[in-house]
Amino acid sequence: MSESLSTDVLIVGGGVAGLWLNARLRRLGFATLLVDKGALGGGQSVKSQGIIHGGTKYALHGALTGASEAIADMPRRWREALDGQGELDLTGVRLLSDAHYLWSPGTLAGNLTSFFASKAVRSRVGQVKGDALPPALQHAQFKGKVYRLSELVLDVPSLIVRLAELAGDSLLAGERIEPLHEGGELVGLRVDGRAIRAQRIVFSAGGGTAELLAAVGLQQPAMQRRPLHMVMLKAPTLKPLYAHCLGGGSKPRITVTSHPAADGEWVWYLGGDLAEAAGVARNETAQVAAAQQELAELVPWIDLSTARWATLRIDRAEPAQSSLARPDNAFLAEQGRLLVGWPTKLALSPDFSDRVEAALARDGIRPGNHPPLPALPRPPVSGPFWEGLL
Ligand code: FAD
Repeated sequence: MSESLSTDVLIVGGGVAGLWLNARLRRLGFATLLVDKGALGGGQSVKSQGIIHGGTKYALHGALTGASEAIADMPRRWREALDGQGELDLTGVRLLSDAHYLWSPGTLAGNLTSFFASKAVRSRVGQVKGDALPPALQHAQFKGKVYRLSELVLDVPSLIVRLAELAGDSLLAGERIEPLHEGGELVGLRVDGRAIRAQRIVFSAGGGTAELLAAVGLQQPAMQRRPLHMVMLKAPTLKPLYAHCLGGGSKPRITVTSHPAADGEWVWYLGGDLAEAAGVARNETAQVAAAQQELAELVPWIDLSTARWATLRIDRAEPAQSSLARPDNAFLAEQGRLLVGWPTKLALSPDFSDRVEAALARDGIRPGNHPPLPALPRPPVSGPFWEGLL
């Protein structure tokens, strides 16, 4: 079969970045096609913790930088979209928590001094006590201090379902991707034999982007993978908690998010320092033991005797940075018709989309006329990954 299709923007990779961009461009009147070789959202997106950061955590390093001021706008943009009033209509997406918390066990840790030295932080953070504490921390034995950040936590599987709805007929399941050249220029892609011409091509394939670049004969932009070893636990005694628990350093000791299981129980998903280098080096048994020890110290009043435990190894995919530093805004590189990037955070998908839209506007790319699309094979949508593991 050698079907020929044309579109304005051909997107490869249907995680949150590609899906958000696709929905935005369709709303602006562009014809789009989004190709995914797996399940939509099934890369990093559904395995993320779903926190829509506002950058407050970065202030733990001393001060908010220019870039982290840019991220400060993300909770507002997502909130408007969730209310159906924003750049996308995300009504129906489940909001798990309208706040994320910063939790300092015991006495006020030294790092909080510099944190609260920033005026920008003081205006966005408020201490909570008593009934206002997250349910899991409301206990007589709880000794720490808790601050409420105006950040959101989303149920990412429901976000992916909604973004797939907004994609309409623009989705294509496709595995074998080859470049389509004319006159020495990349003018589109051949996807499982279908020739697809486009004014612009966007690679937003997360960890699959290096392989895609190689398929079209490119090596840049270089990407890095940051391995994580996350921990999950499920128990009838768990109540929801969305918090960074502070240790001595600038990174959270653990970051806890809570996700609803189909049987009504909560699943706690643990990241932060626990999941980074030392955690990556541990095998599954040792990693579960490390998590058990952390929770025994931090929330000893929660009975975890019947909890079921699992771990998940997953790499974050980002543009290459010196010393594996974490980029704190979306990244986009351009080579002719090809745009390549990573949002670097789910929260920054709107920023990723802004960058692509700005490149289209700068180059005078406008919606063109294209024949209607034939019926195409659709990629499946990824569900809650924890259901299969616990
Ligand atoms: P992905 O979600 O990885 O999607 C890439 C897609 O491309 C996949 O669907 C894949 O099937 C497809 N693909 C790959 N290769 C090909 C190919 N060759 N052809 C066609 N399709 C291809 N960010 C936050 O903002 N808040 C958080 O709380 C948060 N927590 C996180 C926790 C963890 C454990 C991890 C790993 C990440 C977390 N992140 C968080 C980061 C966030 O998940 C990612 O930045 C974001 O999901 C990346 O989205 P993406 O669309 O670029 O990539």
